[in-house]
Amino acid sequence: MTISREEFEEVMNLYKAKTSIRSVEGEIIYRIPLKNDFSIWIYSTVNPMSGMSRKLGEDAIRMVLMYKNTHAVMKETKTLRTSNWKKNLEAKIRDLTEKTTEYRCPWGHPLVKRTGKGGKGSFYGCANFPDCSYTYKGEKRISDVYDPKNIPPLPRK
Ligand SMILES: [Zn+2]
Repeated sequence: MTISREEFEEVMNLYKAKTSIRSVEGEIIYRIPLKNDFSIWIYSTVNPMSGMSRKLGEDAIRMVLMYKNTHAVMKETKTLRTSNWKKNLEAKIRDLTEKTTEYRCPWGHPLVKRTGKGGKGSFYGCANFPDCSYTYKGEKRISDVYDPKNIPPLPRK
């Protein structure tokens, strides 16, 4: 289905998506600012010229969790342009937001929650990957060990 720019921005305004930029494909990218230099970039499929989403096929709305606008932290997730798109989009924004944490690696970068290959096991990884490859996979849950309000550095390996 087709989505208009106005319709898309109704949802984006809920998240104070401040900036919109245009990708080379000619679609508007919305950026939702989060804490600790994280943001969610949303490739809307909305063409800035026509003000409508692309009509080609069933192009999905793509989403990427970014750190400092330079590091793609989490693989993009796709939202199909079906009648449920708003609900699905908001669920994915929530999912990505919940991956971010207040915890820091020893070099001061924030950590994100990650899931191991095959969906098995979870751990914390540095958002500054691949420049920093710090991971934490302790026996104890990180929230039992560290006070998020204090944001102490994790031990160096
Ligand atoms: Zn780091």
